[in-house]
Amino acid sequence: MREVKDITSASNVMNEIFASDTLTLEELRHRLSKPAFKALQATIEKGVAIDPAIADTVALAMKTWALEKGATHYTHWFQPLTGLTAEKHDSFLTPTSEGSAIAQFGGKDLIQAEPDASSFPSGGIRATFEARGYTAWDPTSPAFIMRHSNGATLCIPTAFASWTGEALDLKIPLLRSIEALNKAAQKVLPHFGIQANKVSSTLGAEQEYFLIDEEFYLARPDLVMTGRTLFGAKPPRGQELEDHYFGSIPDRVLSFMTDAEHQLYALGIPIKTRHNEVAPGQFEIAPIFEPSNIAADHQQLIMQVLKNTARKHGMVALLHEKPFAGINGSGKHCNWSIGTDTGINLLEPGDDPQSNLSFLFFCAAVIRAVDVHQDLLRISVASASNDHRLGANEAPPAILSIFLGSELTGVFERLVSGKGSGKKPGLLKLGTPVLPHLPLHAGDRNRTSPFAFTGNKFEFRAVGSSQSISLPITVLNTIVAESIDVLGERLEAGLKKGKSLEEALLEVLKDTYKKHNRIIFNGDGYSEAWHQEAERRGLLNLRTALDAIERLTSEKNAALFAKYGVLNERELEARQEVMYDIYFKSVNIEGETTEWIAQTQILPGALAYLADLEAVSKSKAAARTAEQVTRATDALSDALEALKQQNAALGGDTVHEKAYHMRDRVLPAMGEVRKAADALEKLVAADHWPLPSYRDMLFIK
Ligand code: ADP
Ligand code: MG
Repeated sequence: MREVKDITSASNVMNEIFASDTLTLEELRHRLSKPAFKALQATIEKGVAIDPAIADTVALAMKTWALEKGATHYTHWFQPLTGLTAEKHDSFLTPTSEGSAIAQFGGKDLIQAEPDASSFPSGGIRATFEARGYTAWDPTSPAFIMRHSNGATLCIPTAFASWTGEALDLKIPLLRSIEALNKAAQKVLPHFGIQANKVSSTLGAEQEYFLIDEEFYLARPDLVMTGRTLFGAKPPRGQELEDHYFGSIPDRVLSFMTDAEHQLYALGIPIKTRHNEVAPGQFEIAPIFEPSNIAADHQQLIMQVLKNTARKHGMVALLHEKPFAGINGSGKHCNWSIGTDTGINLLEPGDDPQSNLSFLFFCAAVIRAVDVHQDLLRISVASASNDHRLGANEAPPAILSIFLGSELTGVFERLVSGKGSGKKPGLLKLGTPVLPHLPLHAGDRNRTSPFAFTGNKFEFRAVGSSQSISLPITVLNTIVAESIDVLGERLEAGLKKGKSLEEALLEVLKDTYKKHNRIIFNGDGYSEAWHQEAERRGLLNLRTALDAIERLTSEKNAALFAKYGVLNERELEARQEVMYDIYFKSVNIEGETTEWIAQTQILPGALAYLADLEAVSKSKAAARTAEQVTRATDALSDALEALKQQNAALGGDTVHEKAYHMRDRVLPAMGEVRKAADALEKLVAADHWPLPSYRDMLFIK
């Protein structure tokens, strides 16, 4: 059940504010001389290095624009390996010797800055080389103004690298992967008669999140410290309580959404908001797709604006994948396709036989890529928090598979079998001269698949709600680039032997489908039967984040990333190191927070209640309750002692060992504490219970 409702129909608002806080190319065209603009355009479109003189002119235009917008500071805005964004603000104002100040911001300030990078994880890259990193302007993503209560800052999207040139961020590999995809696609497009100067992936990410009242949030140290509840008995009717919520979107939620949207419009982010009721208190926001580099920057901004704006409205936006156990989790569906600068979506089945040939080629490339690199896709969404969601009954399993839908699967099956296509099997004789239009029927939508074809794009659904989408897109771009190359080479070999395009392609498609169709699954991905079937098919089932992260640096993966110039071995190892570290730290904080809350809030509450019961011990009811509470409290105390031991031990010296200790010892011990505490919650008087309940939190009034 999901209700879809547009709350942003006022198109005049759109026209007035859209991109008003974004330094668009259009705006720059007005502000720059013709040659300067041309030079900048060449940089953006063809990656031509920018001339320092031009950089000075652009910087001046940027500064003038930003000051007009009320900005007092500027920052190089970047994406460190934490998956968050980072900024260091510098004032435009530079004091003069006369005691006044002038606004200063030149080409050098624009192009490069040297933030004190020591507080960002580098996975060991900086430790052995240079302690410093630098940020470099990414001219392909527009600068923007970030507003806060007392002012505004010019944000310059940048890449973050070490002085030895190694990527310390998520953007550089993303840009490199876009280039890899571009090169691979450009090589094959001429075979299909398609003209393009540039090919890039396109991306639209649907962000799910929860909203709760700030008052409850502040009363839950677990939410404040870890982003999820570490305690909380399920309300009696759990998820079915949906119907309470249905149809009554509280005014404050609507006004929060409108506020957030307006800010996002101003930032040039084409939001198309909907809210749905998968779980009580859960919502979704989705922009229209954009080139993937820009979509990745915009996605970070969406998360930031949601979080900041909710606070202004007395609420908190929870982006964690599983803030409430037993209630639906949150994902971030990444809709991904490949597009040309001439406006062709290469994953859109066309109206004519010719364009279907290219569609089938690119589609087959994706099928091969997902099958060969199941591990990489799983790794790209691996985190301690996403482990609570993947494989649960409301999220795609940790097993990668592709939902193609019956129509498209049928097309491939007929290609292989040669049936239903006349005497001589041929691509264009698939029963109909032209492929059917494939926008799927509602009934053909499979929501249990981690990777689904949805008519003219693929939707990667295993991505977690709190994570940066940069790594998942980087992986997709890279693995598909490789598959395009592999299939493209086979195609060319066929053509060289004198085969027609149709014949050569048919062979490539048949061969690819036969080899990789084990990855296609159109059934129920939540079912136990699928888990068994997947095992029979030899598909990977990397249940936990650590099982996945372990494989990041495998020979296959290192070779792939090196071949496509996306990540060298050191950069890859660094990322693995950081992933272990983040896993370890986040679970470690959870373990300690669990201990702390149980020891200092829940136990004292239960014991105080016992003391109260003592006072009326002559009552049969009191005696009975006291006995039950005593038993449950002792169970909690036992579980707590066991957790304390695990928290005190770290399991080893390396982040690798520590991460495994967290998964294998701390998480289970936390689970026991929670089980005991949740049982106690149902026994202890509400006024003795120190934490707001799930019921309190999930229904925003
Ligand atoms: P749902 O999955 O809920 O049915 P929609 O069909 O409304 O979602 O759209 C999902 C997302 O897919 C939107 O963000 C949309 O912009 C995006 N999308 C549509 N076409 C493309 C494309 N060619 N490339 C990438 N994303 C796309
Ligand atoms: Mg979706």
